[in-house]
Amino acid sequence: MSGSIARLNAIAAINTTETSPEISDSDVSIHELFGRNTFSLSVMQKCLPKGVFKSIVHTIESGSKLDPSVADVVATAMKDWAMARGATHYAHVFYPLTGLSAEKHDSFLAPDGTGGIIAEFAGKTLIQGEPDASSFPNGGIRATFEARGYTAWDVSSPAYILENDNGTTLCIPTAFVSWTGEALDKKTPLLRSMQALNLQAQRILKLFGTEDPGFISATAGPEQEYFLIDTNFYFSRPDLFAGGRSVFGAPPPRGQEFDDHYFGAIPEKVLAFMHDAERELYKLGIPIKTRHNEVAPGQYEIAPVFESANIATDHNQLVMYMLKKVARKYGMTCLMTEKPFAGVNGSGKHVNFSLGGAGVGNLLDPGDTPHSNAQFLVFCAAVIRAVSKFSPLLRAVVASAGNDHRLGANEAPPAIISIFLGDQLTDIFEQIKKGGAKKSKTSGTLTIGADILPPLPKDAGDRNRTSPFAFTGNRFEFRAVGSDQSIAGPLVAMNTILCDSLDYIATELEKVGNSNETKFNAAIQKTLKQIITEHGSVIFNGDGYSDEWHKEAAKRGLPNLKTTVDALPSLIQKDVVAIFRKHKVLSKRELESRLEIYYEQYVLKINVESNVAIEMAQTLILPAAFRYQGELAETASRLKTLDISYDTETLEKLTSLIQDLEKNLVILKKTKEHHADSVKKEAEHACTVIIPAMEDLRKTVDTLESIVADDLWPLPTYQEMLFIK
Ligand code: ADP
Ligand code: MG
Repeated sequence: MSGSIARLNAIAAINTTETSPEISDSDVSIHELFGRNTFSLSVMQKCLPKGVFKSIVHTIESGSKLDPSVADVVATAMKDWAMARGATHYAHVFYPLTGLSAEKHDSFLAPDGTGGIIAEFAGKTLIQGEPDASSFPNGGIRATFEARGYTAWDVSSPAYILENDNGTTLCIPTAFVSWTGEALDKKTPLLRSMQALNLQAQRILKLFGTEDPGFISATAGPEQEYFLIDTNFYFSRPDLFAGGRSVFGAPPPRGQEFDDHYFGAIPEKVLAFMHDAERELYKLGIPIKTRHNEVAPGQYEIAPVFESANIATDHNQLVMYMLKKVARKYGMTCLMTEKPFAGVNGSGKHVNFSLGGAGVGNLLDPGDTPHSNAQFLVFCAAVIRAVSKFSPLLRAVVASAGNDHRLGANEAPPAIISIFLGDQLTDIFEQIKKGGAKKSKTSGTLTIGADILPPLPKDAGDRNRTSPFAFTGNRFEFRAVGSDQSIAGPLVAMNTILCDSLDYIATELEKVGNSNETKFNAAIQKTLKQIITEHGSVIFNGDGYSDEWHKEAAKRGLPNLKTTVDALPSLIQKDVVAIFRKHKVLSKRELESRLEIYYEQYVLKINVESNVAIEMAQTLILPAAFRYQGELAETASRLKTLDISYDTETLEKLTSLIQDLEKNLVILKKTKEHHADSVKKEAEHACTVIIPAMEDLRKTVDTLESIVADDLWPLPTYQEMLFIK
């Protein structure tokens, strides 16, 4: 029986699946639901003694060390709170370099010595865990026989309860380090980089007269894109099942060319799913704000209100987890990979980034007084300098096998890292470059601080969807991040390169000091002028994926790192190592281990994809093609015996394609017989030899799809997967 039956069954099942399964706690209002499953500050305030609560708040707000003596009290309160909500187990959740979340569950229960059990959860257990680290990638930081890794409680990210039909678990966000204290995860450098950024931002603020602004935190609001397809299709596609990306598939007769999906009405079933997923996320205290269709058919977006970078990162991991989990309930599978379908838009994450604090607000908000404008321009120039100096690093932290299909292809955003500033800000910086004191595009005179700066409107210019790094009124939006990546890496990079710029600017301005206003203003003017003169070439407001831009960018000397293999070495570039060391974010050894792991991940990914391509071509596509060839040949020979004239054009074309397929299969298999002595060389081989061979194989398979009889074709088509819900 041909696989086409599976396709027909899938389609039949879709028509009969229930669109709205029951949602849990449907009688509870959103207001009551929000944060119900988080051990939040307000919960702590209720159940902790005043002194302990104060100590915790102090730790969170100032980013200072946790007083270990409060741990026992907090642990007991946390356990009681969790058990009252049905929790039987707790888990230290950590974020290894695979980009996923990991957790080890332990029961609260312990034997009481008399045949019964008691519930236990000591401060020590809350603060520190010791999962076996040996099966997590460490990039040579730890010899495999030394399996020890430690998880350390991150007080600043609230513990939460994950519900399951058969029980609930208390989850505690933690950092994950080796026994030597080296980072094995995504959270540790993020926390370190936030601490470093705070220090440097304080220096600038002090110069502008703000003495004690409280902790200055990086903030992040990730817009998350994803695809939904029916699970019946998902399970009939070994490629999607194994790696989340279709390695074959001809373009559908109708793609995204009508632009009618973007912001269009959300299909009923999808909307039901969104409601459900959002309620689950509200329970976890995740402030989901926006939902809409995205550009490609079957593609959607969800975005929360921004939070501190650390919490936003943990929450984004939960968003990804929850979307996948809830989609299943609706008979759909949520694909978070960057490019599940060739020829339609890929999925990214737009990471909105800023910095600020309770005392000073958002430091990338232009404000409308000259004073705050000058301060804003300093922070804005710091970002421009950072992105310009370290654009290869920014490309490296978004590099992955999946994301290469977006960034390296003719799709927005491109692999060239440039900044969109908008007309007005660009104009202002242009004038600073020329020495200031010129008329601005709107009105007013422009010498920093001394004269009235024009009020900078929040929407400082039009939108530009093609830029990988855009100023959007009061924040920057880093759009090159891949949809299934942890946002920690990009945020660590942003924080650290910004540290470098703020450090540079503060050092320049501190030489002059702020006691004489005129001199101080002149120093700002001079520093900004120098920055924009040296780094202005990173600013580009035009169409980021036009051919002209690629040419122009090359002329400006902006790197165009098309693949992961091109980009990754930037992680250990000399200047990168220097700033990561200086600001105590990652040591050289830690950076090197990361590089090693990311190469490894890349190689593994291409290995899985090529394996699955070979298997599908061999066991699904080739048999279908032979069957059709047999049918055509039999028809031809029957017609011949009947002496009826017949045309063998299709048969000949098919036969030649089958030969191509067999040839391409042999070639692809051969490329995999390669063994290199380093993972870097393996990655290079995967990039330059295996991927092109996969692409050749794909071309043949996709052409076959347009010839082989539809009832013999074994795979759900793009048309079916993207449009049938
Ligand atoms: P867009 O118009 O870009 O699609 P969305 O509303 O979908 O915007 O998402 C914008 C994201 O930017 C939200 O998550 C929002 O909370 C976030 N954001 C707003 N201000 C800041 C800020 N100061 N720092 C970080 N993120 C911010
Ligand atoms: Mg958006």
